[in-house]
Amino acid sequence: MNEPLSFVHPTADSPWGTYLMQVDRVVPYLGHLARWVETLKRPKRALIVDVPIEMDDGRVAHFEGYRVQHNMSRGPGKGGVRYHPDVTLEEVMALAAWMSIKNAAVNLPYGGAKGGIRVDPKGLSNKELERMTRRYTSEIGIIIGPQQDIPAPDVNTNPQIMAWMMDTYSMNTGTTATGVVTGKPIHLGGSLGRVKATGRGVFVTGREAARRIGLDLDGARVAVQGFGNVGSSAAELFAQAGSKIVAAQDHTGSIFNAGGFDLADLMPWVKTHGGVGGFPGAEALATEDFWDVACDIMIPAALEAQITSARAMRLKARLVLEGANGPTVTSADDILSERGVLVVPDVICNAGGVTVSYFEWVQDFSSFFWTEDEINVRLDKIMIGALKKIWDTADKHRITLRTATFAVACERILTAREERGLYP
Ligand code: NAD
Repeated sequence: MNEPLSFVHPTADSPWGTYLMQVDRVVPYLGHLARWVETLKRPKRALIVDVPIEMDDGRVAHFEGYRVQHNMSRGPGKGGVRYHPDVTLEEVMALAAWMSIKNAAVNLPYGGAKGGIRVDPKGLSNKELERMTRRYTSEIGIIIGPQQDIPAPDVNTNPQIMAWMMDTYSMNTGTTATGVVTGKPIHLGGSLGRVKATGRGVFVTGREAARRIGLDLDGARVAVQGFGNVGSSAAELFAQAGSKIVAAQDHTGSIFNAGGFDLADLMPWVKTHGGVGGFPGAEALATEDFWDVACDIMIPAALEAQITSARAMRLKARLVLEGANGPTVTSADDILSERGVLVVPDVICNAGGVTVSYFEWVQDFSSFFWTEDEINVRLDKIMIGALKKIWDTADKHRITLRTATFAVACERILTAREERGLYP
């Protein structure tokens, strides 16, 4: 057998390295399906594209873009698109792989995919952002489509960017292909409830986990890293349940208020100032001190590899809810487990977004749209049901929720693999 992926050099804490270790840990629970496990250690397809655009000042700039389809045994690829200066092929591979696991864990009829462009979008004008998005969509157009691979928003991408992607794909194919992306504006076949769905899933799984460990959400102290789409939506729901959001951190700074922030003031501040930094209703914290804050629940909702082993030793929380993908490195995961801190892993905790993306895709195909109440009721039911199966699996084998989620998901993916058989 060839050495897999000679162009990637994962380390223990890099996203792909973290993912590979998570897969290795599940092998003892896969029974006869273990013979297929190598399938999960290589992406099915990885596309690197050059994205040249004309800048407003007449220069021609080139950006590197990616779309990785990790596994499509159970359905078309599904996963977001990230714009960030640190995006690499290796990161996108890991994010695509986590999408395979997540989609199978909540039993959506999708494989896993992810995309990204190595760019700081904050340095682009709106017109440059549009040109870059359209060229990227054209370049990956050879592998995406409503039945092939369906992108969605991720870090620094939003409904407007999804609208440009949908329009570009539609122009190139001579169709009005609303089902090619999810997370679109409502007028273009977007779904009610999609924008806040990931945060809602974090809250719903968090509420279940808190109940099981006897933690009352009323009065619970919550710290949130990343106050973007996922972090702020989750914070709002915890606040509505009576919890106090005592600390927040994003790329603009870290803030603390032992009595809890007033979100009615913080949310507009973030909108106007681009982040939590400088918020007058709180005291500023040094970046590293954020991880020492006295809290009951920690929600990492920014980027990968934020909970390192050093931070895991110091964390005060009883419960970690992984809103972000891959926020905890494996050594830190083990420390948290030894310290009795319960971690609800990304691959179930943040699955609310892709679940409502699935609802959006179904609504686009049937051209029949549901109410926000219908969306939220169905979302809660799917998340609670999926978490229960994972918890039962964890109890049965005495394993962490992460390994249990991988066990449930990998069994579904590899059963599909086995039933389909190898082509040719
Ligand atoms: P976003 O762009 O809306 O927000 C990202 C947040 O992270 C911002 O508040 C930003 O300031 C913060 N951030 C960036 N760099 C940081 C740093 N170095 N330190 C601290 N904070 C930093 O993105 P999002 O959609 O909320 O995604 C956040 C995470 O959730 C990502 O890991 C993403 O993959 C994951 N996720 C998103 C969705 C979704 O539906 N949007 C679904 C599942 C998982």
